[in-house]
Amino acid sequence: MATLMEELLSLQARDRSIREIRSALRAIPAREEALKAAIAVQSASLAAAEERGKAAGKARAEAEGKVDGLRARAAKLKAAQASTKSNDDYRALAKEIANLESLALQAEDAVLSAMEEEERAAAANAECAAALEKEKAYATEELARITRSLEPKRTILEAELAERAAAARAIPADALARYERISKKYPADAIALVESKTGSCGGCHMKLTPSDLVEARKLDTLSACGYCGRLLHAAR
Ligand SMILES: [Zn+2]
Repeated sequence: MATLMEELLSLQARDRSIREIRSALRAIPAREEALKAAIAVQSASLAAAEERGKAAGKARAEAEGKVDGLRARAAKLKAAQASTKSNDDYRALAKEIANLESLALQAEDAVLSAMEEEERAAAANAECAAALEKEKAYATEELARITRSLEPKRTILEAELAERAAAARAIPADALARYERISKKYPADAIALVESKTGSCGGCHMKLTPSDLVEARKLDTLSACGYCGRLLHAAR
């Protein structure tokens, strides 16, 4: 028949193991967040490439419109030039037509530049889209891998929790409540071992009083460190 202290110590050991498993399982959501962040970075790059393509397309359309407008105006002036009888008018129109054609050539250069920029943007877009797909595929694979590797821990956790519940039921309610209350403050060591050489608390390392030491040796009553409040247990 296990003593109360032995039962509590075994409960503490199980609680430690449960805490370790839970901490290992927290790696899954943490990794998931990191993978999502990496995907967001790639998505932002793709969106930027798309914006760049749209801006270049808009610039091209504007330059094309300008070319058409200038050419149309030049064509009208050419028609006027063909029908004029005045040499002065003819020369004035010729100058204006030459000017419009020069402007149209400049606008054509702008069309070409915009087309080149569109091509570069399209290449960047394709690259970003491929990178995004790759990142997504990696995330899916990585998440599956980490989940698979930690899956056995989930099963172990379930079993540990069930056994913990059973073990807790065997412990008197007041003792259990006391242990659990102290566990909230000291999750790793609610029960501290008395350091036999120095007679001090294994949790806070303060030297215990002789009566605390006597109390700590009793297996079926609980005693606590007067300094830190941890339950005390003395090795036999
Ligand atoms: Zn203490």
